[in-house]
Amino acid sequence: MFLKGKTALVTGSTSGIGLAVATAFAAEGANVMLNGFGDAAEIEKTRRGIEDAHKVRVGYNGADLTKPDQIESLMKECVDEFGAVDILVNNAGVQHVAPVDEFPVEKWDLIIALNLTAAFHTTRLALPDMKKKGWGRVINTASAHSLVASPNKSAYVAAKHGIAGFTKTVALETATSGITVNCISPGYVWTPLAENQIPDTMKARNLTREHVMNDVLLAAQPTKKFVTVDQVAALAVFLCKDEASSITGANLSMDGGWTAQ
Ligand code: NAD
Repeated sequence: MFLKGKTALVTGSTSGIGLAVATAFAAEGANVMLNGFGDAAEIEKTRRGIEDAHKVRVGYNGADLTKPDQIESLMKECVDEFGAVDILVNNAGVQHVAPVDEFPVEKWDLIIALNLTAAFHTTRLALPDMKKKGWGRVINTASAHSLVASPNKSAYVAAKHGIAGFTKTVALETATSGITVNCISPGYVWTPLAENQIPDTMKARNLTREHVMNDVLLAAQPTKKFVTVDQVAALAVFLCKDEASSITGANLSMDGGWTAQ
């Protein structure tokens, strides 16, 4: 329970990696602010489930993180409800798969706004209080695609390379403030995001579902296993420990060997 008394905001935590990270922080005693889209009743069930299981306070704010004014309201609600954001996990993200000359302009704008620009807004708004306290953690969910590319993912790869650079810059700016800023770069993790891109990839490459799973998704991942959300969450928890206080500006791969190739 080393996070008792701390508050974590995990964006995109109604599903997948974000939900696992938020739950893992709650298990260590942190109060948590959930964010993301989904069915209101399901989200309330999730919120209450985490609260009951871990005896912490769990809030929910459904801000659309492509909208800077909604990010401002989300950050304000965290401060009003919990006092501050001690741990910020920029995790919300979406994907779209298409060749660049056919890439829908609105999808490009959405991916850059959500996967990159939202982290700028949450970070700029969270840092002043972290600096005052002399303690803070910013953890960005990047991707193996922050280090290498794949065809048909121009917006996603651009945004993820961008978040990796943003992470390094903010780490340098906060290096003497008791704040660490890192990204975790998973390979393929079994979540709705991974599952949902199968139909588009089938269409873009004219492949069967089985081929997409084994020859496209896991083709680059030497372990031939999906990363699990709990593995990502465990690394996020470790980054909050005192033992991790010298890890800053790092891009931590958890990709089954993908980017070692
Ligand atoms: P997911 O689809 O399960 O979860 C995405 C979350 O973002 C959901 O809670 C969703 O409601 C939320 N979201 C979507 N649009 C939003 C918006 N406009 N405003 C606020 N929230 C919004 O996906 P996931 O796989 O858990 O992905 C989480 C992060 O991990 C993303 O940044 C993704 O790029 C990254 N990632 C995923 C994988 C993978 O294989 N699944 C690999 C590497 C990196």
